[in-house]
This record gives sequence, structure tokens and C-alpha cells, in this order.
Amino acid sequence: MNFKLNAQITRRALAMVALCVSSTAFGQANHVNPWINENPIIPPTAGIGKGLWLKGDLHVHSRHSKESSNNPIAKIVNFCKTTGMDYVCITDHDNHVNGDVAHNTWADPEFKSESVLLLYGAEWTTTRGHGNVFSAVPYDHQRLFDVRDQRDVAVGTVKKQLGIHLSANHPSGKDHFGYSYDMLGSLEVWNSVLWSKNAEAVMIWDDMLSSGRKLTGRGGSDAHHGVPDKPELATPNSKQAQANYVGTPTTWVFATARTKQAVVDALTNGRVSVSANPYAPRVEFYADLDQDGKTDVMMGDNVKSTGKPVKFRVQLSGNTVADSAYTIKVVKNGGPFGTFKATGKSPVYEFTDTPEITGRTYYRVVVEGPGTDYPQVPQAKALNGNMVGLSNPIYFNFDPNF
Ligand SMILES: [Zn+2]
Ligand SMILES: [Zn+2]
Repeated sequence: MNFKLNAQITRRALAMVALCVSSTAFGQANHVNPWINENPIIPPTAGIGKGLWLKGDLHVHSRHSKESSNNPIAKIVNFCKTTGMDYVCITDHDNHVNGDVAHNTWADPEFKSESVLLLYGAEWTTTRGHGNVFSAVPYDHQRLFDVRDQRDVAVGTVKKQLGIHLSANHPSGKDHFGYSYDMLGSLEVWNSVLWSKNAEAVMIWDDMLSSGRKLTGRGGSDAHHGVPDKPELATPNSKQAQANYVGTPTTWVFATARTKQAVVDALTNGRVSVSANPYAPRVEFYADLDQDGKTDVMMGDNVKSTGKPVKFRVQLSGNTVADSAYTIKVVKNGGPFGTFKATGKSPVYEFTDTPEITGRTYYRVVVEGPGTDYPQVPQAKALNGNMVGLSNPIYFNFDPNF
């Protein structure tokens, strides 16, 4: 028996004694939850200025998804080059090919690019939910497809063996994610250009975060339809390409290098920001833990609370609209912390709060304001409304060994 367990038993014994003595009607005041890890080991965080921002789309369907139209892989890759996307994951439905993504999407001669980082993945399309896989290298997707109807314990074993990043797609409504969220590295909190339909996904995200799951929020356009090359190729869905296509929304990752693995790692670490489109401002969220004027951590990072005040900074980078007012909504532990305004060429808002010394705390940010034109997807701006972007949380006292 180790010291920690001894200490825990002693604490519980003391709590029980205290209960007997006080004999309050509800008696829970001194309860010690044996599952709480009171001394989490927090890994060191990487230097703030030592990465690079890469932008892309994590949910796109090519012609290998049967219900798509006018969307060959070459069209998607060329569009990414035109719009300056650094990476993309083509996530075709796996049920259309009985799990054999490797001999369909990945074997397509068009599945190559010198400049755009093409992740390996697919949309795991099952009766109890849709999820995307993101991988820097090819993996045996067939095994994940084959295990889809088994119990989660079997699914989780296969997922672990494959070493993949699994992410829930559009988690509410029909095709909600009906598996354990404990298998996930991330959650699609912004699906397609219609931000307004994501409210339940964001609610699920906050519930998962509030229960101690450090789960990255990401975007995905879920685009299926490209612009037809000739008018006679148009389908009833072709008009979607004018409103929802690659980059609506755009997911930014703060990566250690310009590699596929670094994109997946940044996604797993939560160093992620989601913007309405590739030209819209990027929300960045930092904290100065000891108030020495230097930034110590950024979104996705998890640190131990000292019980002292922390200075947080929200900033918008990129194409901000000068002299426009941006609305910054700060969410703390799933509830509203405050709504603030920021203006100027490079809008910044700073606030101070003291995360509890015991227990978990997280802060995340949503920014609204003027829309940004997306010339290649001309109707996107109108559909996005005033949603600009969102950050991932900064975490305090989350258990890294969870
Ligand atoms: Zn889906
Ligand atoms: Zn999809």
C-alpha cells in the first residue's frame, strides 16, 4: 500500500468520524470522493512563440461518397491551394465502400499534393453515429469499420491499437455520436456554414468539459458538392457549393512544424481555433499565469492553479474590420463569465480571474462581429450571421492521466 492510498484512507476515516460527530441531516459536507485525483501530474507546456498556425478543413466529402456531386479529389485539392489552405482531411463515408477506404479515396491517383498536407481519414459512418478519423499516415480503417456494431470496449481496443485520432461529428440529432466520448480526441462543435444549428453540439462539448474530459472542439464543413465544371453537370445540390464548401468553417491549429503529424498532434492538444472562413479573423486566447506581463499558456494548455489571479488575453488576428466592435463572450465552466467589447485594428481584450485552487476550471471564448467575405463561396458570409470564431479552452487542474 503506498503513501497516497494511506493518506486517502486516513482522510476518509477522518471524514467518517467528522460525519458521526456532526451528524447533520444530509451528512455530505465532509464526503471525500475516492475518484478525485488531487495531485494531477501536468506535463510541461511548449513555448508559445515556437509554433506556426496552419489552417484547413477536417470534414470534406469527395466523389467517393456516393451522395456527393461534382467533387473529385483534384477539385478539392486545387481549391485548397487557391484559398491558401495548409491541410485538408478528405473524409468520405466508409459504408459506401464497406470500410475499404484504402482502395478507394486513398488509392485515387488524385489523392496527392506537393503543397497541401493531405491527412488520411474517413467518416466512420455507423448506425449509432458518425465520427471522423484523422491520421498522418495510412492505417487499417477496415478494422474500425468491422468493429462498428460491437460494444464500446471492443471499439476502444481497436481504436487504441490503430493509434488514430477519433473525432465525433455533428454529435446531436440524427447521426448523433452514440459511442463513449472517452474514445475521442476531439468533437465537431461547428459543422458547416450554419453556425446556428450547432448549439446542441456546443452544449454537449461544455458537458464533456465540465466532467473533466479535455476534449478539443473543432470545425468541419461537411461539404459534399462542388461547383460543376459545365452547366449540364449541375445537380439540385450544386447550389450548396456557393454557400458551404471547403473552409466553412476553417480550423486553425498551432503546430510545432508544417507536417501532417504536427497537425494531428495540435488537434489532440487542443491548440485549435475555429474561424468562419479562411479569411475571417482568428481568435487567439492566452494567459499570463503570474502576471509578470509575459504570456505563459494558450488555448489547449492545462496547468495547475496556484490560487492566484490569472490575466487572460483574447486577441483577433488577421483580417479584422477596423473600427468595428467585436463581441467577446467568455465561457467559464459551461456558464457565461462575461460579455465584452473589443475594437481597433487588432482587437484585444484582457480580463483577470482566479481559477479555484482545488477542482477544475476552464475558460473558452466565442467572438461575434462583422462577417468576412469569402469570394470563392459567395453566400457563406450571409449564412454565418455575425459569428466570427471560437477558441478552445485554457484548462486548470484537469487530470492529464484521465
Ligand atoms: Zn456525417
Ligand atoms: Zn460528413
